[in-house]
Amino acid sequence: MGQELKEKVAIVTGGAGGIGRATAELFVAEGASVVVADIDVESGEAFTADLGDPARFKQTDVSRAGDMQALVDYAVEQFGGLDIMFNNAGISGAQHPRFLDDDLSDFQQVVGINLYGTMVGSQLAGKYMSQHGGGVIINNASIAGILPGQALVSYRMTKAAVIHFTKCIAIDLAEYGIRVNCLAPGHIRTPLTAFTIPGMDEEQMTRVREALAPVWDSNQPLKRHGKPEDVAQTVLFLSSDRSAQITGTVLPIDGGITAGDPVNHLQELFDARARALDT
Ligand code: NAD
Repeated sequence: MGQELKEKVAIVTGGAGGIGRATAELFVAEGASVVVADIDVESGEAFTADLGDPARFKQTDVSRAGDMQALVDYAVEQFGGLDIMFNNAGISGAQHPRFLDDDLSDFQQVVGINLYGTMVGSQLAGKYMSQHGGGVIINNASIAGILPGQALVSYRMTKAAVIHFTKCIAIDLAEYGIRVNCLAPGHIRTPLTAFTIPGMDEEQMTRVREALAPVWDSNQPLKRHGKPEDVAQTVLFLSSDRSAQITGTVLPIDGGITAGDPVNHLQELFDARARALDT
């Protein structure tokens, strides 16, 4: 590994699991000091203990502004500054396949974590960075915020809002030397996409992931399973000076899903015509 983030200080929210975890690992490998923020204290503490001295854990609920202020203060106190804020924590909410079955009881929670948490994290990091020479903010949205579709309506709405929010504040914060960008991952294998249910162990999750893979792949041109590390590499790019001229973008990491429909409709039409003439 190189030292692309040497002497940089980063916060990764939702850093105890999935995409956040892979990113915190890569950041440390690239020379950064990292505060992992999560509500999952057990996993977060074990993970940062493994990462060693460049990492700290801070128990944080991103939907609470007080927790987020304490998080930014903690990063500055522990490592002397804040250069990179990765607002990654997010939840899908209850998984009703149809809107009419959704009682909307978790709407406030989904908005609180996915949208409000991202806004507060961006604002508090932005305030610090604006007074200390700039920085980088990266928000984790989703292709669900680009492509309308059935189910997970609250989730899709918050992710669409995160994309719009990112573009707005990229303009607002540019004068302070703060770049703000946004990710739109597609199907990435994490607990979130294994439809984890309480009590499911790792072996069960692996079996479920295998069963779900062909379904996830059906609308993805690249028949390759997205990994947390794929997203982490993109966060590294957007955090480093390699992306010095990039702000206000949304970058899909989706195996081509948002490029368009992978079904060859012309071929299907030819096949249908051939079948019709055969009978
Ligand atoms: P994950 O469930 O594996 O990890 C999410 C982490 O966030 C967990 O460690 C969890 O404890 C933490 N968290 C949950 N609520 C929190 C809160 N209130 N405060 C702080 N931490 C909290 O999920 P993931 O797949 O790694 O997803 C990370 C982000 O990527 C989310 O914003 C998600 O919407 C987005 N995303 C994921 C995918 C995917 O396919 N996995 C696709 C698109 C977008």
